[in-house]
Amino acid sequence: MMFNAIYLTQSDDGKTQAALREFNDDVLPRYESGNVIVDVHYSTINFKDGLAITGRSPVVRSFPIVPGIDLCGVVAESDDPEWKVGDKVIVNGWEIGERYWGGLSQRARVRGDWLIRLPAGLTPWDAMAIGTAGYTAMLCVRGLEKNGVAPDSGPVLVTGASGGVGSIAISILAKLGYKVTASTGRLSESDYLRELGAAHIIDRSSLSSPGKPLQKERWAGVVDTVGSHTLANACASTQYGGTVTACGLAQGMDLPLTVAPFILRGVKLIGINSVLISRAEREDAWERLAKDLKPQAIAAMSRTVALPEVFDVARDILDGKIRGRVVVDVQRAM
Ligand code: NDP
Repeated sequence: MMFNAIYLTQSDDGKTQAALREFNDDVLPRYESGNVIVDVHYSTINFKDGLAITGRSPVVRSFPIVPGIDLCGVVAESDDPEWKVGDKVIVNGWEIGERYWGGLSQRARVRGDWLIRLPAGLTPWDAMAIGTAGYTAMLCVRGLEKNGVAPDSGPVLVTGASGGVGSIAISILAKLGYKVTASTGRLSESDYLRELGAAHIIDRSSLSSPGKPLQKERWAGVVDTVGSHTLANACASTQYGGTVTACGLAQGMDLPLTVAPFILRGVKLIGINSVLISRAEREDAWERLAKDLKPQAIAAMSRTVALPEVFDVARDILDGKIRGRVVVDVQRAM
């Protein structure tokens, strides 16, 4: 069967070349057990996909590769007794699009134990509008909840607010009753952020430069998607006993902070990794997403593109030009 996919190769000088190519099933990788072929309906572009497609950062571990860390589709063939033809499934992470064949393809062969069932109440489009970004936002919210940050604990800061993780984190937190402060470099998106549920909006420049080791106690919790000085300042201004979840590096991978917030205020810094967490935690996060994210909010923050458009979107997401989420309709020609 012939199908289209985005294909990344690496030239001798280390540059990434990205192209739309036609393949047949013979090229699909085979795993030791539990092989499942999925007819992909939708994928998406996350920040990491932007890095892979442009080659701006070495996130791809094995070339050539089909990028795309997320996919949603229907099982077309299965060697795994748990999955049958016609099942609607999602894959997030497990190093697809980094080490293994990814989701920016009309067909993919994956391992059955990477799959989770599309939760009731979500369409395949919804699932990819949420994607790894949304599921990571939910893991951050779970991180706050598990550490005792409740809606009445005080304000919660969300950084990188107009991006994918940030937009979804705001929506979920607002629906749960938290008072959210959104930090953004795009104050022109203030109406959008208020519609998602932000109670306050601050300019990200107030957080992005070196600050004092301990600052005024402001946040009961933080969802940080940008790292660097922003994360350091967020920790320094978190209330006694508060929790900071760190999932991203849009500003930088560095973390120039002191131990003061941890030893003097008992602040907890929780790392969030969505790629390799257990299936049970994934299913829990997706069930919560189906419940705690309003369908209107998903629609309001997402747009759909065709497979040939992903090259431009990949550049735009790294340049901070994408608002919310981009779904890729992999079956649409243009
Ligand atoms: P997006 O590009 O959609 O969002 C990132 C946002 O960060 C931008 O929209 C912008 O928001 C802000 N930003 C961009 N550049 C800078 C900068 N130089 N300084 C400060 N803020 C900046 O990406 P995603 O939401 O998909 O991902 C966010 C981060 O989370 C990425 O680093 C990604 O790699 C990481 N991530 C990690 C996961 C994990 O498992 N740990 C999973 C998913 C994502 P604004 O314009 O509002 O300021």
